[in-house]
Amino acid sequence: MKIAFIGLGNMGGGMAANLVKAGHDVNAFDLSAEALSRAQESGCTPFTSVREAVAGVDAVVSMLPNGKIVESVFEADVMGHAPEGSVLLDCSTIDVGTARKVTAHATTAGYAMVDAPVSGGIAAANGGTLTFMVGGTDAAFARAEPILAAMGKAVIHAGASGAGQAAKICNNMLLGASMIATCETFAMAEKLGLDLQTFFDISSKASGQNWSMTSYCPVPGVGPMTPADNAYQGGFATALMLKDLNLAMEAAHSVNADVPMGERAAELYRAFDAEGKGGLDFSAIIQSLKD
Ligand code: NAD
Repeated sequence: MKIAFIGLGNMGGGMAANLVKAGHDVNAFDLSAEALSRAQESGCTPFTSVREAVAGVDAVVSMLPNGKIVESVFEADVMGHAPEGSVLLDCSTIDVGTARKVTAHATTAGYAMVDAPVSGGIAAANGGTLTFMVGGTDAAFARAEPILAAMGKAVIHAGASGAGQAAKICNNMLLGASMIATCETFAMAEKLGLDLQTFFDISSKASGQNWSMTSYCPVPGVGPMTPADNAYQGGFATALMLKDLNLAMEAAHSVNADVPMGERAAELYRAFDAEGKGGLDFSAIIQSLKD
């Protein structure tokens, strides 16, 4: 299949390389010359504009920073330039409203489109083990699924257009709140004189068990190896967690959902980011809860 890939950054670079490995012919475009030359090294064909990259393709995949950019790339340079009838897959994390709007325009213009944000970070993008949550019609999903399967370990149809983005931000709001709850609990356990490995052994088998503790423990030396064991480097950056929580708050307000824990998580991550900690893994917020 001939596929155009737009946005070859930390995530998109590895994803495009996996499409090449799966035998696809990949046209690449990124505003960054460095990203484009890395894509060329992994077997993609570089182009100097979106319009040239999407000419004559069967599918267009994007992995871009935000909704404004996704909207402008698709509206100005993909629609009317990619062949009518091709399938469009936006894998970026963006707001539900923009995802639905762009898909509606693409559908009117004769394309099939899905929103297909991912769970999993840079290592999963490189390793082809991402989880995709997909919003779109059954017909669009059926066309997108084999393309996504070449870049991930799971492809789940979340529902109609926008449902992929909705599932992504609901999941990450729960993750943000559960990480903070885990961090404050370990900080309190320490102040109460508990040995933290012993508390981990108890709580990970008791009703407090949750993913932020058992798979991503924020305490160095406790539980499995996590970014906490690497001075909170790598992993999922605080700035990206804050981006997702801001999108979650926007979505919550748009449907009048009462999300007090999500709101508090967004406030705490906003404050941690403002301290200049945006580059640290999101579990590093335990530092501010201990102080
Ligand atoms: P990134 O900044 O590394 O990559 C984005 C790329 O898009 C850059 O190379 C940039 O040059 C390019 N770009 C920007 N505007 C462009 C345009 N108009 N045309 C073409 N290229 C353009 O970001 P990333 O970490 O790869 O994240 C991409 C998306 O994936 C974001 O929406 C992010 O929220 C989501 N995401 C990231 C992670 C992660 O761990 N990094 C995990 C899950 C989801």
